[in-house]
Amino acid sequence: MSTHPIHLLPPGATLGVLGGGQLGRMFAHAAQAMGYFTAVLDADADSPAGRISHHHIRTAYDDPDGLAQLASLCDAVTTEFENVPAVALAALAGQCPVAPAARAVAVAQDRAQEKAHFVACGVPCAPHAVIETAEQLAAVPTSLLPGILKTARLGYDGKGQVRVQTAAELAAAWVQLGRVPCVLEQMLPLAFECSVIVARGHDGATVHLPVQRNLHRDGILAVTEVHEGNVPPALASQAVEAAISIANGLLYVGVLCVEFFVLQDGRLVVNEIAPRPHNSGHYSQNACDVSQFELQVRTMAGLPLVQPRLHSAAVMLNLLGDLWFTQGDTAQTPPWEAVLQLPGAHLHLYGKSAAKHGRKMGHLNITAATPEAARATALQAAALLG
Ligand code: ADP
Ligand code: MG
Repeated sequence: MSTHPIHLLPPGATLGVLGGGQLGRMFAHAAQAMGYFTAVLDADADSPAGRISHHHIRTAYDDPDGLAQLASLCDAVTTEFENVPAVALAALAGQCPVAPAARAVAVAQDRAQEKAHFVACGVPCAPHAVIETAEQLAAVPTSLLPGILKTARLGYDGKGQVRVQTAAELAAAWVQLGRVPCVLEQMLPLAFECSVIVARGHDGATVHLPVQRNLHRDGILAVTEVHEGNVPPALASQAVEAAISIANGLLYVGVLCVEFFVLQDGRLVVNEIAPRPHNSGHYSQNACDVSQFELQVRTMAGLPLVQPRLHSAAVMLNLLGDLWFTQGDTAQTPPWEAVLQLPGAHLHLYGKSAAKHGRKMGHLNITAATPEAARATALQAAALLG
């Protein structure tokens, strides 16, 4: 099938996104701010991006009519949700420019392929084994235990993962996960986690955001902290170089997030990639002169990529639905007025109709002149939010 290369799309063109979640919403906001029209494909009539987009096609991601409608409306299409089937992107690519390409998204959608790509790029990842059959399960070396068994596909926010200590626990976990293809990873002694957002243009040019330092709670990102020196400089450049070589190896066009582990002995190990802007890059909306969503617009529209500059220290706090239930079982709006009295507090809400435990409802970006000030304000915000 012939594909359509990205070419320059000036403001006034229509940019489409597969998926109507918060990432699609913030992409659409960035595109609209730059004078583009937007189209969203998502079956949910109430989706965060669908509600604010010029066009909203309400079909499943793999509906041929929906995809054809999207292609006819749009000058280029991207994705915001890594579980949009790669075949949908491949089908679209025959009708309009698509970035990132289905082939790159397919690698990010499958932990086994993803790990093979890291190895091919010469970037160290966790020792691991692919488990697709009972024979492969039986042959797993004990050196990988204790470990984490992860489904090869469709995992996110720590879902589809089981921590295992012994071979017997591993066998039980594989059954529990439905005997689907999995990757077993050795449990690594983490010092901390970080990530890098890379944007790569159709001409192969790359720019990146500064390295983000991330804190997860229960498998979900809770806090991101970014300032000069938040990660030792040698480690930061190693992470940026690794992220760029992973993007180059995929001939990637678009915004890519690469997540890393920093081990207690100081080694850097790549964890996984997301073929889209990422929760850990949200701080860029307020702390950088170019956000990850503007980078996404620029890569899709063939616009020049300029190296973003961090102009403030930042702390990003994820706002999960749990914050609506600090007073009991009835949802109550958190005290935004008090939070917004804090200097440098920027509230981003995704317009989701109902708060639920564990659901990402929004985030709070806190910017300040110094890391200490940003951290102090973040602690105040966290105390207010209870
Ligand atoms: P998800 O796709 O759900 O984000 P990850 O593979 O990133 O899945 O795992 C979620 C979190 O679990 C990581 O951010 C890290 O805190 C922890 N984790 C995952 N793999 C390992 C590992 N091999 N060793 C130690 N901790 C891990
Ligand atoms: Mg992750």
